[in-house]
Amino acid sequence: MSHTFCTYQNSIKRIVLHACIGLLLIACAGTEAEQEPGPNPPTTSAAKKVFRVAVQPYGGFPPAEVQQVSEALTSMLGAQVLILPNRPLPESAFIHVKSPRYRADSLLAHLKRSKAPHVYCVLGLSQKDISATKRGKDGQVKQPEFKYRDWGVFGLGYMPGAACVVSTFRLPKGKPSYLMRLKKISVHELGHNLGLPHCPMEGCVMMDAAETIQTIDRVKLAFCEKCWNAVQTKLKKEGFETALGGSTGI
Ligand SMILES: [Zn+2]
Ligand SMILES: [Zn+2]
Repeated sequence: MSHTFCTYQNSIKRIVLHACIGLLLIACAGTEAEQEPGPNPPTTSAAKKVFRVAVQPYGGFPPAEVQQVSEALTSMLGAQVLILPNRPLPESAFIHVKSPRYRADSLLAHLKRSKAPHVYCVLGLSQKDISATKRGKDGQVKQPEFKYRDWGVFGLGYMPGAACVVSTFRLPKGKPSYLMRLKKISVHELGHNLGLPHCPMEGCVMMDAAETIQTIDRVKLAFCEKCWNAVQTKLKKEGFETALGGSTGI
């Protein structure tokens, strides 16, 4: 399995995107070096903060699938999930390169801007195609540029950061594996939001899903022990209630 990392820095906004995009179809990660203000209002007592994740369905994303994803986030991460009212995809993210699609990086910025302060991060769910620019380790667009400048992806998320987005456009519909793939990609992207990089442990949900959809099928809907410990450590350090759910399972 090969994978690529795409990194670029925007010195003005001090945002670094760290995208990992497979050859054809892949769940992606992004990095948001810019520090978020505290996801919850500062507390004056020793009360623990609640780890809240918002799910933003776009364009009539099926409510039953939103529910399934939400339950996965709760069982995997102990997150209290807030399902936001459906809204149209922002037209500002629309482009027509190769095919009609929405720029995932624009969606992340949009999600982050609209995120409520008491929410740690927000996951957008889209049935429309989303894309990102695939870059090499040097930060340059991978060659040939016409191919990688705008590259269809399963998902993209800041690493770490406050927003991620997942699209089902490239997931074959009507397959028994459809929902499981959607849940795995969603948990994977949220893992990036929590600062988890790709994991070499076979079967861990944080494995790089580069190359093919079959890679997604190889991983479990579970974190390896190392990734799960990293999540718990981060949440504890930031003053959140320790996640009740979670699963190492590997
Ligand atoms: Zn990833
Ligand atoms: Zn892992």
